[in-house]
Order: sequence, then C-alpha cells, then structure tokens
Amino acid sequence: VTPDLSTHVLVIDDEEVIRLGCERLLKKEGYRVSLAEDGPAALALIEAQDVDVLLLDLMLPGMDGMEVLRRVRRLRPHVVVIVITGYATVEKAIEAMRLGAYDFVSKPFAPDHLRLLIRRALDSQSLHRESRVLRETAARSLREVSTEQSRTRAIIRCMDEAVLVTDTRREIVLHNPACLRLLAASSRIAVGKRLTACLRDDTLAHMVDRCLDEGISSSMDFPPGELSARYLRAHCAPVVSEENEGTLGAVTVFEDITELKAVDRLKSEFVSVVSHELRGPLATVEQLVYFLRDGMAGPVTEKQTEILTRIYLRSHELIELTHNLLDLSRLEAGTLIRDLEPLPLAPLLAQGAELHQGGARAKRIEITIDVADDVPPVAADRTPLATAISNLVGNAVKYTPEGGTITLDLTRRDDEVVVSVRDTGLGIAAEELSRIFDRFYRIKNDKTRWIPGSGLGLAVARDIVRAHGGRIEVDSEVGKGSAFRIVLPAFAP
Ligand code: ADP
Repeated sequence: VTPDLSTHVLVIDDEEVIRLGCERLLKKEGYRVSLAEDGPAALALIEAQDVDVLLLDLMLPGMDGMEVLRRVRRLRPHVVVIVITGYATVEKAIEAMRLGAYDFVSKPFAPDHLRLLIRRALDSQSLHRESRVLRETAARSLREVSTEQSRTRAIIRCMDEAVLVTDTRREIVLHNPACLRLLAASSRIAVGKRLTACLRDDTLAHMVDRCLDEGISSSMDFPPGELSARYLRAHCAPVVSEENEGTLGAVTVFEDITELKAVDRLKSEFVSVVSHELRGPLATVEQLVYFLRDGMAGPVTEKQTEILTRIYLRSHELIELTHNLLDLSRLEAGTLIRDLEPLPLAPLLAQGAELHQGGARAKRIEITIDVADDVPPVAADRTPLATAISNLVGNAVKYTPEGGTITLDLTRRDDEVVVSVRDTGLGIAAEELSRIFDRFYRIKNDKTRWIPGSGLGLAVARDIVRAHGGRIEVDSEVGKGSAFRIVLPAFAP
C-alpha cells in the first residue's frame, strides 16, 4: 500500500511531545494526520471522519485507553489500532491485542519502527478488506443459486403440464404433481424407478430411448386409455448441459389435449357435413351449365359459350375441393380407409390415366403406361388409393405445358411396389419440395398463377398413402419436369 493523503492516521496521546513527534514523522511519510489528547476528543473525531489507523496511548487521563479501544472497535470495527505503551505495561498491551488491536509499540520508540508497523498494518488491513469482499460475494452468489433453484422448483411444481425427467439410465430423476395427476391411474411413477417399471405401455419408453440414443426431440400423441384417461401429447427432448458435455437425460412434457381433440373432431365433422351438403347442388350446377353450353337448351352465342365454359370449370374446381375436404376429414376421423384387400395396382393406373385423358388431350399431352411383369398386389382400400394416384396424374396434367408427356410406371423394388408419375412439366424448386404436401400450400409464380387448384391434392394423397403404411417420394427439376413415386409395402399373404 503506498501511503497517500487518503490514508488517515489518528494519534491519541496526552503527551504533546509524542503527538507532535508522530505528526511530523507521519506527514513526512505522506499520511493525513489528526491529533487528539484524550478519549472523548478521539471518539468525536472518529465518529465524524473515516480513520484508517489509530495510534492509541493506553495511559490516558479520564477515559482510559482500553475503554477507548472498546468503543472504537464497536464504532469502526475495521480501523487498525496500534497501541502505545510504556515498558511497564506490556501485559496491558497484550490485553489490548486480545480486544482487537493489531500490534503495539513501546515508548520510547524509534521512528523507523513506527513507520514499518504502520505499513504492515495497512497491508494487512487491505488484505482483510479484499478477503471480506470475496467472502461477501461468495455468500451472495450462494444465496442467488439457492433462490434460483427454489424458484425453478416452484415453477415446475406449479406447471399445468406434466414434467418427467429421466437420466441416461432411463431412471426417473424428477416429476411434478401434474405428472402424478395425469399418469397416476395407469402408472407407479417414483423417483429412482426405471421408466419401463412404471408404465404399462412401452411406447413412451421407446420415445425416451430414441431421444437419449440419437439426441433428437420428438412428439407423440397418446389417445385416452394408453397413458391416461385423457388425450395426451408428449414432447420429449434431450437434456444437454450448458458446457455441452453430451446428453444428461431426457425431459418429457405432457400436454392435455383432450379438449383440443374434441374441437378438432367438431371441426372435421363440420367440414365433412358442409362438403357433403355442397356436393349435390354443385354437381347439379355443373351438369346444367354443361347442358346450356352444349346448346341442349337452345342455341348459344360464342360469347355465351365462353362464359358458360368458365362457369363450368369453376364449379368443377369447387366440386374437387369438396371431394378433397371430405377425404381429409374422413382421414382424420379414420373412416376413409376401411377394407384392405390384396389389390393389383395396374387397373388403378389405367383408371387414373383415363380420368385425366380429356384434360391431357386438350393440351396435346401424351400419357403412357408401363407396367412391369412381376409386380405383386398391395394391401389397400381401392377407392382412396385410386384417389391418391389420380391426384398425382391430375397434377402432372395441370402443371405440364402443351405438347408434354406423362409416364405412369408400375414396378417392384424389393418388398415394395412403386407407382411413379413422371411429367415433362414446370418442375418444382428444391426449397418448395418440403412444403408442397402442406394443406392449402400452392406455389405462386407467373407460370402457376392461372392454374386452378386448392392446395389440398398432395396433402390428401400423402395422408392416404401413409394410412396404407407407405410414403410418397418426389424428385423435380425446374423447367424439366417432376417424378412423384407412391411406395407401398407389397402384399404378403
Ligand atoms: P393444387 O394442385 O390444388 O395447387 P396440390 O396439393 O396438388 O395442390 O399441389 C401443391 C402444389 O405443388 C401445386 O400448387 C403446384 O405448385 C405443385 N405441384 C404439384 N404437382 C406438381 C407437378 N407435377 N409439377 C409441378 N408442380 C406441381
């Protein structure tokens, strides 16, 4: 510590010679110095100002030095006190140190000795101060950690969603009251137990396994009766430490979606009823307009034919929309696909081509069909699967310009059957490929603007194929064409 004017030394001694001697010496050292000749004067000064070091004579008239020391310790516990004693009072000096004095110096003392003593005292004071600050900081952060922990615990406890945390050994390490409430009836959840030992059903345990082994999050719905009397949606995510030391466990959050599902069912029913009711009148409109346009109700002018053709096409679009909406709501309700039978697919390809032959011919598009020899049947419900194939062929016709070609192939690939629909049409940009199967999604650009559609055809096709245990693959290149493939497991008797 370099002494400077901010270090304040107070000298308390009744002997003026000593007071002035100290003052001269210490001022030369660069300290700020104050003097007091007795206890009360010193205490008044200490109360009014910050003092760093106290040179205290123990033999004072009136209030004795020991008493002054006691009061100073109470008033300013961090002030360094050095006591000044005569030869005969070394015992007193030791008692003073017991009361908290830092050291003592005997009269008469050498200036160098006092200088050194004060330096050491200041060094030790600053060390003390630093360690005090460190101790306080440590205590504060400990307090913060513990409030943070209890706050997090409280939040998890009060959550409406059920929370279940498992470690890498698949043992439960944490659950909240909502978890017990939602899963209690069907499980015996307890900290320390393995997940498989708590639940009747293994599906959740598999989900957690996948999360821990592959480190990816996933969600899954559990209908009433599987995990709980309620409809639950489980989201499972890996727990990763901030230092990224790998997966520590898995946290699964269960959301009660019973009401959501009820509303969803109502929506499906509503859509289904409305689509069904619209279909009849729309079909009549389409038919009547067709009659009118073809002159079956009397002659029509060229302009009228043009208008009637547009009405006919628009009502046809509406009918398609009602078909797609009805299919989707039936898919959601699980009523679209009913009877699976061993079904050869070649006739469905012919049917799909036939349905769209009119549209293709109008654009001078040629449709060819190629069926390999050894293709086994698939287990399918004929009508919906025909819809899926027809939607792909319909798109190929819609999105292929005049004079193009469409090829329908039926082949076998190991244990799978592949229906491929290839066109020489507009093609689809790579960044759009992930979205074209979304409901109502349509690619909007100058080429597609005037092509009618609802954005539901591919969504319906994909859901139908999935419900048969299959998938749809797609390759496409803008300006060259697209290839959609329906891949289904071959029927195994
Ligand atoms: P819609 O044809 O009614 O718009 P779909 O769900 O059948 O709806 O298709 C979604 C979008 O995917 C279409 O809007 C179109 O942009 C694109 N698409 C589908 N099939 C093809 C295809 N064979 N060639 C080019 N684009 C296609």
